Amino acid sequence: MASIIAIISGKGGSGKTTVAVNLASHLAFIGKRTLIIDTGFGIRNDDIPLSRTDELLYNLGDIISGEAEFDDAVISGGDNSPDFVGASLGCVPQHFETQFERMLDKISHRYDFIVLDAPASVGREFDACCNASDTVIAVSGEDALSRQNTSLCLSRITNADSKEFYLVLNRVRFDSSDSSPYCEDIADEVGARVIGIIREDEFVRHSLETGDPIVRYDTYAGRELENLSRRLCNEYINPSSNMLTERLFEKNRLILKTQRGGF
Ligand code: ADP
Ligand code: MG
Repeated sequence: MASIIAIISGKGGSGKTTVAVNLASHLAFIGKRTLIIDTGFGIRNDDIPLSRTDELLYNLGDIISGEAEFDDAVISGGDNSPDFVGASLGCVPQHFETQFERMLDKISHRYDFIVLDAPASVGREFDACCNASDTVIAVSGEDALSRQNTSLCLSRITNADSKEFYLVLNRVRFDSSDSSPYCEDIADEVGARVIGIIREDEFVRHSLETGDPIVRYDTYAGRELENLSRRLCNEYINPSSNMLTERLFEKNRLILKTQRGGF
């Protein structure tokens, strides 16, 4: 059965799509059978970063409403890229929650990982993603608004005991941390352990727009997103594999211990 990972955030623009697309792309690249689902209704996120816009015949809404089978709607990623189900431009269907869980139950055995790119903030799709997942990754900026909203989102999640919660701090500016709280304090504040720190990286936007995942490139964000993916596969990644990240970790006095892989 697949591990189902929901990528959430309190605020829009935090980096959910960046994390979801790159995480799924790297997992597929290292041979994990991976599916990514764009779970927003009325908006689309992942098709451009995955270069799949032209192939979107059916979408998640079509599967939920019974207009299409999962196999008609899924776009195969081949050997090196994730399979993809795109977002619907319609409204959230009436029985979305139960149909979504049913669909995931049916296909879960086919994959090692299913990555759910949740829409910003809370709502039915957010709740459905969190309910269906065994792992929730909240993507947050370091600023107080992001932290507050991340914390509020996480506190909404039911059945929390059966899930793992992680925090990815995104768009961290290396020069701004003197006045910002330490990572471990942020992790305590929002109630999730830090599993990744991703720097502000000018190449991220270019990669999202061109559909060429940054995780394939040797840039700060590329390496840090690869490390995130490897940590989720229980690999031990020494923070010193990236000197600048190591300095960030040091600076933030991050305790190098989690249940997964001891990072
Ligand atoms: P969300 O899905 O949470 O709305 P996105 O992943 O779409 O957020 O990111 C929003 C914007 O922020 C995009 O324009 C993207 O290029 C930019 N961005 C995200 N992460 C980074 C980063 N680490 N460095 C620089 N820009 C980033
Ligand atoms: Mg998005």
